[in-house]
Amino acid sequence: MSENISAYTAILKTYPKFKETTLSGRYITTDHILPLLNKFEDKFELSIIGQSTLNEFIYSIQLGSGKTKILMWSQMHGNESTTTKAIFDLLNAFYNLNEDSFLNEILDSCSLYIIPILNPDGAKAYTRVNANEIDLNRDANDLKEIESKLLRKVFDEFKPDFCFNLHDQRSIFSAGSAEFPATLSFLTPSMDPERRITPSREISMKVIAAISKDLYEKIPNRIGRYDDAYNSNCTGDTFQSLEVPTILFEAGHIANDYLREQTREYVLAALISGLYAVSTKTYELHSTLEYFEIPQNEKFFYDVILRNAIVNHEVVDIAIQYKEILKNGRIIFQGIVENIASNLAFYAHLQIDCKNNPVTLPDKTEISENVIVDEILFKNEILMINYEK
Ligand SMILES: [Zn+2]
Repeated sequence: MSENISAYTAILKTYPKFKETTLSGRYITTDHILPLLNKFEDKFELSIIGQSTLNEFIYSIQLGSGKTKILMWSQMHGNESTTTKAIFDLLNAFYNLNEDSFLNEILDSCSLYIIPILNPDGAKAYTRVNANEIDLNRDANDLKEIESKLLRKVFDEFKPDFCFNLHDQRSIFSAGSAEFPATLSFLTPSMDPERRITPSREISMKVIAAISKDLYEKIPNRIGRYDDAYNSNCTGDTFQSLEVPTILFEAGHIANDYLREQTREYVLAALISGLYAVSTKTYELHSTLEYFEIPQNEKFFYDVILRNAIVNHEVVDIAIQYKEILKNGRIIFQGIVENIASNLAFYAHLQIDCKNNPVTLPDKTEISENVIVDEILFKNEILMINYEK
């Protein structure tokens, strides 16, 4: 985006002006987005594409008048809301800054079809799966679920030139094997078991290379590439096999950002970058080699590691992973012990050196794997493990 880098930077500098402040945190449902969709209705085309298993409306919003058609959908996994927040920031940018030539260029050359929450029942229950406990991203072939059928119907009728498949990933991922979390990850799904680089796949690789280059300065070393093993029941693989360049965006973790408000901004930047690359065809300036140079995602992180703790008279490391739980309309993060061993070869977003002191549960019982550890007893003090404390 070099020739337009200043415009891109300028837009992101004004981010506080168009950030959608009514959406925050991890729990985002159709109830949260409906007032916003209604607000956009005077400039963009709002539609109901159908109803979910539990009869919630599934909305779409369309904008832009250009000939390159881009279909994007978020929250096909109900508990993956970061990209939904970024979509509303993006919609605000298009809604408010309509004098801005750089964004107008996107809307002049592209038509966007956006489904902000494909799985409203999962969003409400804060689950990955839909109300029938089916993973919609493993239902692209079978098309058993109403939500999968609706997405396929939109795909068949809209006939997109590009698909953006928007997700969140867990905090366990590193970008490569070094100590960097995968704050954003991308994938161009395979279209066959041989993982051939077909023309459509090559285009999506180049778009990802363009995004990765634009974002590198913001999140150096924190962009990963997902494994591209073919699975015909995954939506991205299916759409790619129909020769539509498809890009999987995965919002990930950085530092203490469990509410994914920082990552949300990087997702927004990635969306703008990707839309720009597609609308101007500047992705053609990039190579598939740049895509393969993005480090592959690895599972090298825990949320917390207590190093050099004495448990059962032995010096060990204790790895804790947060489980997200919906409680009274918000998400709480509950620490669960996942691994106890000496010298754990993992990274952690938070490490505490216990310096060979005993660590127990608050009632002085020994810590073991699979127990909940919101609090621990360390040097006769109660230490909160929950990141909010
Ligand atoms: Zn997902």
